[in-house]
Amino acid sequence: MTIKKNSVVSIHYTLKTTDNKLIEESRNAHPLTYLQGAENIIEGLENELLGKEKGDKFSLVVQPEEAYGYSDPELVQEVSISMFEDPENVEVGIQIEIDSDEGLVYAMITKVENEVVTLDANHPLTDMTLMYDVEVVDVREATKEELAHGHAHGPGGFEHH
Ligand code: ZN
Repeated sequence: MTIKKNSVVSIHYTLKTTDNKLIEESRNAHPLTYLQGAENIIEGLENELLGKEKGDKFSLVVQPEEAYGYSDPELVQEVSISMFEDPENVEVGIQIEIDSDEGLVYAMITKVENEVVTLDANHPLTDMTLMYDVEVVDVREATKEELAHGHAHGPGGFEHH
């Protein structure tokens, strides 16, 4: 069965940076299961998977515009260290949760200087060119319920039922 719009596809993948640093690896868990054509995964990967079949293996380089895009300067803000409940634990590289108007947002502390903390709420993979090694492990038709929800169900997909 060939991957087409509304196929439910399971893939194993390894995701690395262009300097060969491992970011994610699916083989120590379930394969990733997604609904083709529903923008469940990044555009560059979804486009490449169209027309592939179970058993196909390929490598792919995805530029930021077809992956997580470019960072938005408006998602970077500076706050006073006094805003934190435990300032002694504020460190570069720590991810924190912020209560915003749009709900809970994750931000990375990227700089701490003179009592000013820089928070970056961009996706950690923005601005990055990504290298994928992919193996298609299963392809099937979506159920009516999956189509209605816009995502795949079961292991590796959404397990909310
Ligand atoms: Zn669902």
